Amino acid sequence: MSMKRLIATAAALALVAGASSALAQVAVAPAATPFKLGAFEVIPVADALFVLPNDGKTFGTDPAAASKLLAAAGQPNDKITLGVDGLLVKTPGHVILIDTGLGAGAKSAMIGSLAKAGVKPEDVTDILITHYHGDHTGGMKGADGKSAFPKATVRMSANEWAAMQKDAGSKATVDAISAQVKAFTPGVSILPGITPIALYGHTPGHVAYEISSQGQKLIDIGDTVHSYVLGLNEPGWIDNFDGDKPVGIAKRTAEVKQLAATKELVFAPHFPYPGVGHIVADGAGYKWAPGVPGAK
Ligand SMILES: [Zn+2]
Repeated sequence: MSMKRLIATAAALALVAGASSALAQVAVAPAATPFKLGAFEVIPVADALFVLPNDGKTFGTDPAAASKLLAAAGQPNDKITLGVDGLLVKTPGHVILIDTGLGAGAKSAMIGSLAKAGVKPEDVTDILITHYHGDHTGGMKGADGKSAFPKATVRMSANEWAAMQKDAGSKATVDAISAQVKAFTPGVSILPGITPIALYGHTPGHVAYEISSQGQKLIDIGDTVHSYVLGLNEPGWIDNFDGDKPVGIAKRTAEVKQLAATKELVFAPHFPYPGVGHIVADGAGYKWAPGVPGAK
């Protein structure tokens, strides 16, 4: 992709999200990291990276405080790097992709990552969307403008589908997928072992997905937390990617507290790939303990 196109895409995403205009997309190699969850196979699939300057304009308002936290986590302290990943779940009878990455025309490794997992786009039976932002839904529109996953039922909350249809930046994707969409009300199972949990605030219908099989459980928290360093150490900091910032803070604060208490296995699409691990209490805040089950 040309630099002009790259900047245009980044600017469009920033406009949707209301965040720093200096957000850059960085390509990654395709990657798929399978592990077992009961009778399911769960496979984080890599798409891209976002790199933002540490300028106090996206997470919190104090770059010096952010710098300290980034350095303590062993990260460069002049920038904030976010993964952009999806989660593939193979269940008996379904091939489910939760969030689809940036998509054609962007720096997206998603189709290559799915191939590494042995999945072609036409194999996907269900697409589950956490929320309508382009880094989660862009992959549903192919380079030809048509649906990239022609056989899939596309599932998202009714609130989110309403918001997506009103969003001018999402129009091309909405046109590509509208015949496939089946909206739901969160809180009840939508597929065997899959239950969406309402975490409205980041967007009007943002959900997490609880995935469970044979007593084992994983929760895909969507964009409840973006930066594993800043969002976990300081869940009360403003996150300018959030549509409703006070509600975003309240949901993030409550959710990380609960996930640390219940010690649930977590997947976070914007944490460092493969984005699987546990949120653990650390002083007044929390920290990320990455780890894929069964990994040596
Ligand atoms: Zn996102």
